Amino acid sequence: MAKSLESSDNVLSILSIGLVVIDIMTEVETYPVEDTKSRSNSIHERVGGNAASNSIVLSLLGEKASFMGVVGTTKHHLELIKDTFSKYGVDYSSMIECAGHAVPQTVCIICKETGSRTCVHYRGSLPELSFSIFTGASLNFSLYKWIHFEGRYDYQDTHLSIQHCRDVKDSKGYDFKISVEIEKASAKLERLLDSPADYIFISKDFSIMMGYADMMQAVAGFSQRVKSGVTVVCPWGSSGAAAQTNGAEAVWTPAFPPKETVNTLGAGDTFIAACIKALCHSSSLSTAVRYACQVAGAKCGLREIDQLS
Ligand code: ADP
Repeated sequence: MAKSLESSDNVLSILSIGLVVIDIMTEVETYPVEDTKSRSNSIHERVGGNAASNSIVLSLLGEKASFMGVVGTTKHHLELIKDTFSKYGVDYSSMIECAGHAVPQTVCIICKETGSRTCVHYRGSLPELSFSIFTGASLNFSLYKWIHFEGRYDYQDTHLSIQHCRDVKDSKGYDFKISVEIEKASAKLERLLDSPADYIFISKDFSIMMGYADMMQAVAGFSQRVKSGVTVVCPWGSSGAAAQTNGAEAVWTPAFPPKETVNTLGAGDTFIAACIKALCHSSSLSTAVRYACQVAGAKCGLREIDQLS
């Protein structure tokens, strides 16, 4: 199912820009009570971070995928990241190593009873991918058919980088699309609604913080707020997802729950990757959102994203 949209143009790559981290995954039978001791069923390290996960899923779905982001140089973590990208065929030649900083880590508690994921992130001293680092990397924009940004707290740098991509695209006549994800429920990220991206993926958490009670209200409100022609897409957990282009009708789809919900971690990253893939292959907005919900729903029935293959 995951590969049902077969790739016809795999020459150009989809570039995901943002975080790569180490996830420390531990599964518990039931969610622990604060200030108690309990045992977990398993623990392991793996590569996470929204943009890194977007790249891995895109590659698993048959796309040529590239990753750009800053990374610390903790030896065994950096090796795990490079080995993982290599294993999935993700091009990481634009990854920027920052010597003297550790790779950020996220502790993820997966609850077997509900499939919920609770994450605590430690960023440490690693610098963000600033606008000057982004432009200093001198990307070859002719290689990409889509450039996706994970919106970071330093939204100004993300905004400037998106504007730079737009300027390059317009001045050189490149055909790539630009998207950005607004995930964190932080009022600062509201500024990214004004960015010149073609698609803006907006999380349920951010939408609720902005006062929207459901996905239809969210896409109706956000689509009036963004620039003309921009499409907003709101994945809404087990309710599915909705999308709307400024000036057009909204589309929506219910979720596609698996037989058993095993682990919802990475559902959002999977959703975005699958939606981008479908849109790259000229799917209509409603087909793309439906496909994205199907793939993300399938992920919820799996422990790890690499089982999607
Ligand atoms: P995240 O919490 O990882 O950001 P979301 O909650 O936004 O992810 O969900 C993204 C998509 O994943 C949803 O639009 C939906 O299609 C799918 N999804 C998430 N949770 C479930 C679930 N419990 N059952 C089925 N599909 C789900």
